[in-house]
Amino acid sequence: MPELPEVETTKRGIAPYIEGQTITDVIVRQGNLRWAVPELLSQTLSGLQIQSVSRRAKYLLFTTETGTLLIHLGMSGSLRILPTYQNPAKHDHIDFIFTDGTILRFNDPRRFGSVLWTSAPIDEHPLLKKLGPEPLSSSFTGEQLYKQSRNRKLPVKSFIMDSHIVVGVGNIYANEALFMAKILPTRQIGKISLERYEKLADCIKVILQNAIAQGGTTLRDFVNEAGKPGYFQQQLQVYGRADLPCHACSQPLSETRLSNRTTVFCSQCQR
Ligand SMILES: [Zn+2]
Repeated sequence: MPELPEVETTKRGIAPYIEGQTITDVIVRQGNLRWAVPELLSQTLSGLQIQSVSRRAKYLLFTTETGTLLIHLGMSGSLRILPTYQNPAKHDHIDFIFTDGTILRFNDPRRFGSVLWTSAPIDEHPLLKKLGPEPLSSSFTGEQLYKQSRNRKLPVKSFIMDSHIVVGVGNIYANEALFMAKILPTRQIGKISLERYEKLADCIKVILQNAIAQGGTTLRDFVNEAGKPGYFQQQLQVYGRADLPCHACSQPLSETRLSNRTTVFCSQCQR
């Protein structure tokens, strides 16, 4: 599933090709995604210039003069740039065509992605307005985690995966950040000190930044005649390594389930 680093990498990969460009047409071959694609999408978007491509949580935002196109990649979606028209392959559901012939093509085998339009202020959009801060922004801090966790009972892993607290910390990154911060995933949030939350916030930032940096090496794949951008596999310390030796202490890593998600940790290194 595309996580925040893949969405950020997608943004960086496609933005140079379409920012400042004007849409001439939109072809919807399959509009039955997680939510129905707006019926008049082509009429709405034709003639509009993409002023900027940005990201909020896992939403890609294409800002125009009259509103914003939101794209979410869901479970299996991807976007790529075609310099010239090519016949669509299976699951190539939507083409955004620009005046110079460039095509932004949306592919999504499982169709859990979404393509939406809003003319309202984007921060007020129902999907975005209750989201917590971006993890890589200065507004996400250990102090914030500390304050929001007082007098509450919840395992810390579930807390940092809650998008009202901070966005974009998916299961893999939650496992990895807690290992790096040496905090047990099951630790109750009300009992973690400010100092440890500061460490945790730093680790979340480092883990995500590293993932984005690794994704940068795949940027060329966004302009690809045949394939699709592959989601990158990274060096992981704990996720997917249950029963294998901890890289820090060599003791076998433990696995449990928290909020129904696979949780791997070192019972010796993490407290
Ligand atoms: Zn260990």
